[in-house]
Amino acid sequence: MARLRDPVTILKGVGEARAKQLANLNIFTLGDLICHFPRGYEDRTRLVPIAMLEPDVPACFKAMVMNTPRTAHIRKGLDMTKVQLADTTGRLNVTFFNNRFAAEQLQYGKEYIFYGAVSGDFVGYNMTNPVFEAPEAPGVTTRRVLPVYPLTAGLSNNVLVKLIAQALAVCDPPAEILPEPVRREYGILPAKDAYFAIHQPGDMEQAQQAKKRLIFEEFFVFSAGLSLMRASRAEKKAVPYSNFNMKPFYACLPFTLTNAQRRAVEEILADFRKGAPMNRLVQGDVGSGKTMVAAAAAFCAANNGKQTALMAPTEILAEQHYASLQKLFEPLGITIDLLTGSLSVKQKREVRERLSSGQTTVVVGTHALLTDATQFLDLGLVIADEQHRFGVAQRSKLSAKGEDPHLLVMSATPIPRTLALLMYGDLDVSILDELPPGREAVDTFLVGESYRPRINAFIRKQVSEGHQCFVVCPAVEENQDLGVKAASAWAETLQQTVFPDLRIALLHGQMKGAEKETTMTSFARGEADVMVATTVIEVGVDVPNATLMVIEDADRFGLSQLHQLRGRVGRGKAKSYCILTTRNRNPETLQRLKALCKTTDGFKIAEEDLKLRGPGDFFGSRQSGLPAFRVADLSCDLVTLKDAQTASAQWIDEHGTEDTPEANALRERIGELFARSEGTMN
Ligand code: ADP
Ligand code: MG
Repeated sequence: MARLRDPVTILKGVGEARAKQLANLNIFTLGDLICHFPRGYEDRTRLVPIAMLEPDVPACFKAMVMNTPRTAHIRKGLDMTKVQLADTTGRLNVTFFNNRFAAEQLQYGKEYIFYGAVSGDFVGYNMTNPVFEAPEAPGVTTRRVLPVYPLTAGLSNNVLVKLIAQALAVCDPPAEILPEPVRREYGILPAKDAYFAIHQPGDMEQAQQAKKRLIFEEFFVFSAGLSLMRASRAEKKAVPYSNFNMKPFYACLPFTLTNAQRRAVEEILADFRKGAPMNRLVQGDVGSGKTMVAAAAAFCAANNGKQTALMAPTEILAEQHYASLQKLFEPLGITIDLLTGSLSVKQKREVRERLSSGQTTVVVGTHALLTDATQFLDLGLVIADEQHRFGVAQRSKLSAKGEDPHLLVMSATPIPRTLALLMYGDLDVSILDELPPGREAVDTFLVGESYRPRINAFIRKQVSEGHQCFVVCPAVEENQDLGVKAASAWAETLQQTVFPDLRIALLHGQMKGAEKETTMTSFARGEADVMVATTVIEVGVDVPNATLMVIEDADRFGLSQLHQLRGRVGRGKAKSYCILTTRNRNPETLQRLKALCKTTDGFKIAEEDLKLRGPGDFFGSRQSGLPAFRVADLSCDLVTLKDAQTASAQWIDEHGTEDTPEANALRERIGELFARSEGTMN
């Protein structure tokens, strides 16, 4: 018997070339192969009479060959074989291209099982290139439920079917980790049955059962992991704060907090009163005022003699936070410093000295905060802004710098409750569902290519009024296949042919960090009129003077992402606009984009997005912040998620720390899932 971690090369038919192809699918071991799950199935179990075949719907049918197949040589490299088939309900003309096998195998007067789709024209139905087998042959391509796998160049579905069958024959699938009572209660297949049935189901029902089991398992493992994390944190201690006088802070604010902000602050202060470290997510739409909530938390920590570290995802964001917090804190006598990579060595050393001696109370920075060189005298609070850019590891690294400091995570991505439950199952959540008063909505329009002259005129108008514009493109380099507008090419086109007299800047993710920062800073200072960019601008730099956001090929983005991008404008006093362009004519796509023109409620948009696209695409694939689920689809499987959460919480509660094979296997699997998700998960 082989083992799950044996390399695929021990299988027959897997040499170096094949192994390379498999590696493209992230398949290296037998275990990877067995966990390469189908993305769907073709039900080839049912035989359909010829008369009942529907155009363009592939189906199986049994038919007799009515003549000797005739092959014609059309031209070099193109042979065409024609044959007529019939059953008791009708006849069908079939054409094979370059298929010597069909020409040789199909015999006049014999019956075969075929699988293919008819296409209709006015002469009648016909079919090209069906697969077929003799009725006495074991069904491989017909008379079965055929799994359809994610593929890569050079690797056909058939090859994968065979390799996976081989792997299952020589190696036991992953061990059972779902406790027996749980399986019984929720009607869940045993692991071994499920792994066989997901790849080789007898019928669609079996495939469904197998899928259900594997989804349940993923959710169970994930939720169990969160439960364990929560449990281990509950054991940690924190000294409750005693000073909750917030009056001086409120007196210094140039405005009154919104009700939502006030509620969030109260929730944070309540956490500070407890004897355990806070783990709280503050979630609020762009512009909902998260910074002030963070500032209130830092103020309270300072009042209790504790230092605060605020981490931002980019230097320029760190600088902005620093500037606005400095204004607020200096009159209150709270010392604040900025620590970023671009400080000189000497400056960095000085800041670090002030931190370790306790001279500085609040520090704002980027990842530079994480290096071992940074030590604190008494770090009490860690705040991470725009959390989806920070992984678990980074978060815990910073936490390790204090004695289990309180943790506050801020996210501008509105997440539907259901999803938040899953992503942040180990965090408490405060929601800012209210914008400060007087904020005017960004007027949003959806237009087609015919509006191009008007868009250009509008850009010019904004610039002539002293404002700035963003133009966002879906890609960096021109991609011929997709016809997607690319930032660099578009910037050049605009500069050369449309706005030779305007200052056009270019920003994209492939630029070096420092270069990005300089470009962004100079745009923020007003040194360019139009910034052409990719989604790198999504995360929060404030350019209050920018009043227009044009998003090219908007159909390429998720709704939440578009909403996020739109949040880059409307930050100043002037009326702001967002123009979505699209060349897409699909009514559903247009519907989706129109929804964005009508509402500015980030949570509503997020719900819509989740329904339409599923969570994989939720924020754009790269930064989904979700664990790497293999089978589960969050938009459809929420009931299973709830069940699995209930079951895992109960089981962890009762058996989580036991030293039984079952509990050990589960903990090992939790470790694997979280390792796979590292850097994306929070
Ligand atoms: P975000 O949630 O996107 O981080 P910010 O904290 O940057 O939002 O706040 C956006 C703007 O709104 C800032 O200019 C801030 O000073 C202002 N602001 C925050 N809270 C209030 C409030 N309660 N009333 C008026 N303006 C506010
Ligand atoms: Mg912010």
